[in-house]
Amino acid sequence: QESDRHPPVIFALASGLSRAAIAVMRLSGPGTGRIVESLCGRLPAPRRASLRGLWRRDGDVPVLLDRALVLWFPGPESYTGEDSAELHLHAGPAVISAVADTLVALGARPAEPGEFSRRAFTHGRLDLMQAEGIADLIDAETEAQRRQALAQVDGAQSRLYQQWADRLRVLLAHQEALIDFPDEELPPEVEQELVNGLRVLHATMQDYLAMGEGAERLRRGLVFAIVGEPNVGKSSLLNALAGRDAAIVSTRAGTTRDAIEIRVVMGDVPVTLVDTAGLRETDDEIEAEGVRRSLFHVKQADCVVHVFAGNPPSSRLEGDGVLVCNKTDLSPAPDGVIGISVLTGAGMDVLRDVLADRARALTADRASAPFTRARHRAAIEETVHHIGRAQAMAWPEMRGEEMRLAMRALGRLTGTVDVEALLDTVFGQFCIGK
Ligand code: GDP
Ligand code: ZN
Repeated sequence: QESDRHPPVIFALASGLSRAAIAVMRLSGPGTGRIVESLCGRLPAPRRASLRGLWRRDGDVPVLLDRALVLWFPGPESYTGEDSAELHLHAGPAVISAVADTLVALGARPAEPGEFSRRAFTHGRLDLMQAEGIADLIDAETEAQRRQALAQVDGAQSRLYQQWADRLRVLLAHQEALIDFPDEELPPEVEQELVNGLRVLHATMQDYLAMGEGAERLRRGLVFAIVGEPNVGKSSLLNALAGRDAAIVSTRAGTTRDAIEIRVVMGDVPVTLVDTAGLRETDDEIEAEGVRRSLFHVKQADCVVHVFAGNPPSSRLEGDGVLVCNKTDLSPAPDGVIGISVLTGAGMDVLRDVLADRARALTADRASAPFTRARHRAAIEETVHHIGRAQAMAWPEMRGEEMRLAMRALGRLTGTVDVEALLDTVFGQFCIGK
């Protein structure tokens, strides 16, 4: 049975799963030193790489498992805050499994997803925002995502939220002074500063909320839906944008029955292009299902690329999409519409630029990187809500209660208050070895 006081030593491969020369096996937990000693004798000097033989004992017979670089990180100055170690193994699957079996025999157990970072959080080495930033950094596909995630790991948001929490704490102290002391003993500035302080904080946080969802969009990537009548060249366009044949192109109308998704990078943002079935009335049941899904994708999409050929569509689709006229090799595009020919490649560079600009615009406020997850926005909205209520309260006692609720909502962001329920969600999204 695991207890908080004696958590077991956990281990996992910290390096990628693709074939490589070296595999990094990471260990953490109070018994790590003892396990490393039984593997390779005396502990290496802290934070220094030493080449060691790793041994298993079969009865009295020592068996060599690998020669590896061994690093010893005594707690609390380690990633997890616990005693930990890294074994840089030769990456052969047989080496890895022999070492893993030996670690289990020595009392360690395989780590669960995100367990290293969760322990780092538990030991105060990271707050929740930073832990999420690490998950994002590991997933980052583009330069912009990398920068955003790293800012979060470095504590850009955590510091701001901490400032707000500190300010609220000071105001709450004013509030409590107002309750504890009769009017005549307290200078009038106390009440005045409390009222002003709440007003300023409320306004600051509302400005912050108004910054939009660019940072969250950048983290998750965008969805662009390609829609239009059958046969206008949607699948051909998707293939051209993706640079490969992913969608079926056919001269027969209604061929693309289901949505096909492809991930590309546009404007340094990952974009999922969705090729939808032709939007038209149909009696064919399978095609009708495709049309229903198209409409769903159009609703979900961050941008709709509406393709036509020949005559412009009579009704514009909802939202501010991009209107594209294809097959300009057959007839010219109407004025003011982006004209392309997927067949000849004409206009494709212009369209790529327009789509990249769109991707950048949709993630425009990312530089200030306010919210990278819906839970961040929700927590700040709740904080603002309670500060708003505190301002409206006539009774000092109730004002204090609202301020405490505001602090709580804010504390959930960085994980300083009631987060037990949150932890499984946050760390469950990690993969093993983080
Ligand atoms: P979808 O039903 O909208 O996905 O259309 P497809 O991509 O399947 O294309 C329908 C037909 O139009 C195919 O025969 C394509 O080769 C053809 N097509 C696509 N783009 C062009 C173009 O720019 N010019 C011409 N002439 N034909 C095209
Ligand atoms: Zn198609």
